[in-house]
Amino acid sequence: QTHFVFHSLQAKMSRPVQARRLEGIDKNIWVEFVKLAATYSKVNLGQGFPDFPAPDFLREALTRALSGGNHMLHQYTRAFGHPPLVKILAQFFEKLLGRDLDPMTNVMVTVGAYQALFCCFQALVDEGDEVIIIEPFFDCYEPMVKMAGGTPVFVPLRPNPPKDGKLMSSADWQLDPAELASKFSERTKAIVLNSPNNPLGKVFSRGELGLIAELCVKHDVLCISDEVYEWLVYDGKQHIRIASLQGMWERTVIIGSAGKTFSATGWKVGWVVGPDRLLQHLRTVHQNSVYHCATIAQEAVAQGFQRELMLYGKPESYFVQLPKELQQKRDWLVQSLDGVGMKPIIPEGTYFLVADISPFKSDVPDVPNSDEPYDSRFAKWMVKNKGLAAIPLSAFYSEAHKNNYTNFIRFCFAKEEATLKAASDILQKWKQEKTSS
Ligand code: PMP
Repeated sequence: QTHFVFHSLQAKMSRPVQARRLEGIDKNIWVEFVKLAATYSKVNLGQGFPDFPAPDFLREALTRALSGGNHMLHQYTRAFGHPPLVKILAQFFEKLLGRDLDPMTNVMVTVGAYQALFCCFQALVDEGDEVIIIEPFFDCYEPMVKMAGGTPVFVPLRPNPPKDGKLMSSADWQLDPAELASKFSERTKAIVLNSPNNPLGKVFSRGELGLIAELCVKHDVLCISDEVYEWLVYDGKQHIRIASLQGMWERTVIIGSAGKTFSATGWKVGWVVGPDRLLQHLRTVHQNSVYHCATIAQEAVAQGFQRELMLYGKPESYFVQLPKELQQKRDWLVQSLDGVGMKPIIPEGTYFLVADISPFKSDVPDVPNSDEPYDSRFAKWMVKNKGLAAIPLSAFYSEAHKNNYTNFIRFCFAKEEATLKAASDILQKWKQEKTSS
């Protein structure tokens, strides 16, 4: 009898446990590269987070929320966003978009921009739907589309060589209008736009956004607009919100992140702004998955936005100061990479910079016919042997296109001066060793 029970249990346990929707998406480069950085890196310019403190006003707001008089801030709040936060976000985005917003139906707070993206794909994409993704892209778009049963359709930004030996800019990476148009069909449900773009730092121009908008309207396609780096734009460039272009508000979900906006990535507060006809479905996903994110973090972010609304456009505004500081860091890293021959692509926005590793390749053995793109091998070698962590550009391409650009790695420059200097010292020493050997 006992013997029989044991056998039937065994038999049951041999059923596949993994849901079909996870097939082919179980590998993730962040698991590998975050672990490598934790194990080997002396200097970590890999994952995108600042190593400098979040601003005092934000930390003070959190302390007040934590230990101030309102003990209810330790309890559940409204599922679709803590009322003070959705109200101030609505006010802020009314200003940015020049339209009236209802805090209860046009704004929803999420667990970071990550969950905002997840809600979009789950709520808007069906089996058989196609979703256009512009390469290179923030890597989670692809598995999230697939988990929803959709099919990602990729269209690349193509680099144009710069003139007169100048350094390349992220603006030199462009969509081919005919190629983009060819990806739209009656199966297309949505396009994901990420401007400013991670990893290149490209800030899409009005012309490029106009082209995307025209195609969305023509084919009745939705736009999932990931704008988490909206304030991180340099050289007087302007971040243009595609939702403000004609015909786009009704079909666009804007995604933002307090993590990027206020240099507090660990808080995991994000949001979506958009028309109720789209957001009502995102609310269903949100309600039935995470419900809401930490009340005190939402309260503190609300206060951060209140401050920023008061100081809007003034020199004391964090949204003015942060890009100014980051632009200096960018320029410093650009110079230092250029100095060692690792040619940087100058980003117009974000806190990432992609650089060409060609002059250093001779030190890092290639393995012919390997499945792993060369830049990934290079980044692993660099962190293990030089202690410097960066992310291979191929991580931001689909499986089919991973080997198209394997000469680049991405650095994050939202770092203290000392961290950037330490990275530069590593590269200089490496270059000297190369020239003297
Ligand atoms: N979108 C992009 C383009 C990102 O780079 C990131 C973070 N690296 C996110 C979304 C996720 O943001 P959050 O940390 O707020 O979840």
